[in-house]
Amino acid sequence: MSRGRDAQIWDVDGNCYIDYVMSYGPLLFGHAPGFVTKAIKAAAENGSVFGAPTVAEVEIAELVTRMVPSVEMIRFVNSGSEATTSAVRLARGATGRRKIIKCAGCFHGSVDSLLVEAGSGVATLGVPGTAGVSPALAAETIVVEYNDVRQLEQAFVLHGHDVAAFIIEPVAANMGLVPPVPGYLEAARELTLRHGAILIFDEVISGFRMSAGGAQELLGVRPDLTCFGKIIGGGVPCGAYGGKRDLMEQLAPVGPVYQAGTLSGNPLAMNAGLVVLKEIERQGQSLYAHLDALGQRLEDGLVSQFANANVNVQIQRIGSILTPFFTSNPVLNYNDAKSCDSSRFRTFFHGLLDNGIYIAPSQYEGWFISTAHTEETIDQTIETVGRVLKAQ
Ligand code: PLP
Repeated sequence: MSRGRDAQIWDVDGNCYIDYVMSYGPLLFGHAPGFVTKAIKAAAENGSVFGAPTVAEVEIAELVTRMVPSVEMIRFVNSGSEATTSAVRLARGATGRRKIIKCAGCFHGSVDSLLVEAGSGVATLGVPGTAGVSPALAAETIVVEYNDVRQLEQAFVLHGHDVAAFIIEPVAANMGLVPPVPGYLEAARELTLRHGAILIFDEVISGFRMSAGGAQELLGVRPDLTCFGKIIGGGVPCGAYGGKRDLMEQLAPVGPVYQAGTLSGNPLAMNAGLVVLKEIERQGQSLYAHLDALGQRLEDGLVSQFANANVNVQIQRIGSILTPFFTSNPVLNYNDAKSCDSSRFRTFFHGLLDNGIYIAPSQYEGWFISTAHTEETIDQTIETVGRVLKAQ
């Protein structure tokens, strides 16, 4: 790609696309929003990194703790992967336990022990999750099916005394969009408490997208630790993790768990993230109502185009993320997602790409809507989908 503006991107040959990838989530306000570019330029003029905190880092930390009440203290890093790596280390350090429970189809970044049965690119390419990962590390990971309380209970019964954490995307978005069934996150909260394990919500995608307080606010379940990435950096490399004060104080220099990074909290990311979070706070609930209305419009249009073309799909959506799964059954977990018709997806993807609509080249991803998408962009998309399906 060569450039992006609002909801559109251009490739190096000059072709223009309506973008639903949005760099896999960070661009809540579309490509190159003026207020973000301005903040990045201003920060760059004043020096891009100091290896010491700046006012912007303190301000964004205060803002996140206000927006996400379960986060009492926060530490900034450079990516979502670094956030999940660090959260897992902190959970192990704080509990003195080794094992981590994760869900099949959830993706927590390029983290050795969390690549087992991972979603996103690992699922798309069908690569064995443990290639290049030490078997000893992979053996510390227990995989359960998403949305299955019984399996989770079983894992705790078998390994509870040695489980440091259960890490989960509270709304799974890396096997396509799969919401939690009612009661599942509540059960996860109860089981982790009962067994003395840390509940980590990986909100790298859902944070600041599902609501200002993330999926945890929308769904009313409070984790011990939360991982952030994507939107928190306003489109600049950034991640963060935070949670209860007593847990976060296990981190060095106060506590014994070491974690640091040369570029962590750098002014470019902090200032880009700060203006984005301030804008989210300024717009409040109306921002999410607007995104939801756009999402509903897209969902309704897709439902009718697929029905007209007699193609079986399940469209799953929360707010501004949706996935049309090529199957006639609801998708509740990774097994369901894997049973979708991937060759039908491939044809659909290429049809859209050839007609100026860019979605992720995988059945296991969501379509991301930003405030830069308009009713007109959505209607144009729906019309194109109808044309593409008719031609196939
Ligand atoms: N966690 C989730 C839920 C993600 O979707 C991703 C990336 O897509 C990550 C963690 C890793 O984030 P990053 O790519 O910034 O390392």
